[in-house]
Amino acid sequence: MISVEEALARILAQITPLAPTHVPLSESFGLVLAEDIFSGDDIPPFANSAMDGFALRSQDSQAQDGKPARLRIIGSIPAGYVVERAIEPGTAMRIMTGAPVPAGADAVIQVELTQGAEANSEWVEVLEKVAPGNNIRPAGEDIQRGQLVLARGAEINAWAIGLLATLGYAQVPVIRRPRVAILGTGDEVIDVGEVLQPGKIRNSNSYLIEAATRQAGGEPHRLGVARDTVESLRENFATALSHDLLITSGGVSVGDFDLVKDIMREQGQVDFWRINMRPGKPVAFGQIGGVPLLGLPGNPVSTAVTFQLFAGPIIRKMLGHTRLVKPQVEVIVEDGVQEQVMRRHYVRAHVTWNGSAFVARTTGSQGSHIMTSLLNANAFVIVPEGGVKIHPGERANAMMLDWPEVEVNI
Ligand code: AMP
Ligand code: MG
Repeated sequence: MISVEEALARILAQITPLAPTHVPLSESFGLVLAEDIFSGDDIPPFANSAMDGFALRSQDSQAQDGKPARLRIIGSIPAGYVVERAIEPGTAMRIMTGAPVPAGADAVIQVELTQGAEANSEWVEVLEKVAPGNNIRPAGEDIQRGQLVLARGAEINAWAIGLLATLGYAQVPVIRRPRVAILGTGDEVIDVGEVLQPGKIRNSNSYLIEAATRQAGGEPHRLGVARDTVESLRENFATALSHDLLITSGGVSVGDFDLVKDIMREQGQVDFWRINMRPGKPVAFGQIGGVPLLGLPGNPVSTAVTFQLFAGPIIRKMLGHTRLVKPQVEVIVEDGVQEQVMRRHYVRAHVTWNGSAFVARTTGSQGSHIMTSLLNANAFVIVPEGGVKIHPGERANAMMLDWPEVEVNI
């Protein structure tokens, strides 16, 4: 039986980022850039006005004999239009925010600092002297043509999407999403829409794994449920081989019908199949036909916890991320953990901030079949190996499930 850390290290050592591809900009959110992004243009592409006001020559804004400068209005420039006419001495043009600055002008004065230029007026009075460049956003002020804007390996967030749009990237070079095959196992497992029959239960795991895969950034493909026979498993595994990762649930323990490991040995290899943790001791990892296979335990809570600890990092590494695991913080365990477990115990909990510390409350009965222990849980309180008790009010580490992943360097 290996530790959680060793299991994760062994798994990640066998996972490499997938190949680059291009996706439409609006589908690139959360993916990892596969190439450096250089700007093909100056941004802004042309000198433009930062204000609604008047484009003028800065030297014409000087008051004369104590009276405001008076300029003749010779045109109007809405955003989106270029005027051919140039500003000459003693003239100005109305200009809107974002409109190109006309030739001859070296400044813009905002409308609030002028008077007398109501709707059809031919004249405007300038109430303040402006410096050259005033309210003009020069071409290339933000980004210069040829400049490196986003580096390969960066995660594409909403702000990066805005920049990519500005740069004209309708298609974005990214690491592609892993296609994840999800296979349930068990003669007792029926589909969600079916009526319960004696001895049967609904397939919760495949749907949970599907959603969790999507949340981690993978592209889930539910393949259905294999019967507890070697033939059925073989048949189902065959269709899984066109995927980047195969995740099964159930059938990896020591029962008479726990056949997943047998098929792995027959068609590939088992690297390990037991981890010193609870819930979720029976987790098998290996490959079939070169496709990495993560065999999660059948008990739904074990499936959820082991997915979080192992499948999430696999999917993220395939996506090209370097931040792979959820962070841990110290929490006060308000209600404590009385139950003594020899394995590392991941106790579902709800963590809040009380103004000076994080406080965890466990989510009740922690059996690996008690699905309601997952409800409202945003953290795992981690009780170390060796039958450790946490008394109410004592401190422990907790893995924060809603927080963004961090890099591991242990
Ligand atoms: P196993 O490891 O196959 O013996 O499964 C352990 C427990 O998980 C058993 O109680 C199974 O009925 C249950 N189980 C297995 N697969 C699923 C599934 N897809 N959805 C819900 N429960 C399952
Ligand atoms: Mg089973």
